[in-house]
Amino acid sequence: MEELIHVEHLVKEFPVRLGIFERALKGDKKPVVHAVDDVSFSIGKGEVLGLAGESGSGKSTTGRLILRLLDPTSGSVLYGGKDLAKVHVKEMHLMRPKMQVVFQDPNGSLSPRMTVGEAITQPLDIHGLLEPGERKDAVLNLMEKVGLSPAPFLYQKYPHQVSGGQCQRVVIARALITKPDFLVADEPIAMADVSVRALIMELLKDLKDEFSMTYLFITHDLATAKYLCDRIAVMYLGRIVEIGAKGDLFKHPHHPYTKALLQAVPIPDPSKRRTSEVVRGEIPSAINPPSGCHFHPRCPFAKPVCSEARPPLKDMGGGHFSACILD
Ligand code: SF4
Repeated sequence: MEELIHVEHLVKEFPVRLGIFERALKGDKKPVVHAVDDVSFSIGKGEVLGLAGESGSGKSTTGRLILRLLDPTSGSVLYGGKDLAKVHVKEMHLMRPKMQVVFQDPNGSLSPRMTVGEAITQPLDIHGLLEPGERKDAVLNLMEKVGLSPAPFLYQKYPHQVSGGQCQRVVIARALITKPDFLVADEPIAMADVSVRALIMELLKDLKDEFSMTYLFITHDLATAKYLCDRIAVMYLGRIVEIGAKGDLFKHPHHPYTKALLQAVPIPDPSKRRTSEVVRGEIPSAINPPSGCHFHPRCPFAKPVCSEARPPLKDMGGGHFSACILD
């Protein structure tokens, strides 16, 4: 499969702001948040890669780095073979319509002063796409496609006058109006009602097939990743700990963290119950992550050696990789 995205040794550290007393105590040692810690992967054209993990694992930061909404501390992102760090601002502006994002909070993504129609038209105005007279028809067509119907009626409504599910569809339509090749969907159903979630997931799947788009689908929920994704990468505290084809990862998970996340996936059969414990404790601070394997304080199989060195991603065969000494 031809690659669209290639991420190589990506690192993102955020400096921590300190108060006067903390600065005096720390001296020259400036703490940083290790949000993304040497992450590498690729996404093929037309593929959906899921990035799964708990909150604080670095998934959203990785998505923003790929879109160049953030600059990496080190490492590179190639988009269609182009190193985004070397792309001039003007060329980046031309590439923007092809790389879009849907954030989890539709209300935070929409201006309360813009109608639904204006919000969806805005990217066309910003990038000068289509003739001004053609824009309204294009927006109305897309609104119908994403289920915002009747489109002429909803076009004039403000975000507070439509439902939460419709707001999320507006955000999706606004991301699609520029006909992107690549979409980062950052927990797009996390804030939606249960009844709306399945509809949004179905919509994302249909749109992916119709527009042949490539997705990075960010989620904390492996069940939704299973529905939409071709491959899944599991992140823990800034690192990818396992990556592989969806079917393989669900049938033969290797990493204890992946296994623990899978324990949280509900089984649609009341006679079957989960027996093992879902991952214990909280994800540690990314300012002082545990040494060696970051997962060792929570891992039921941890050995003394686990805290000594970072386990590399090992090839399990068939494009399946896992970072655990047990492999
Ligand atoms: Fe657990 Fe050690 Fe494997 Fe990390 S390397 S997941 S601590 S067994």
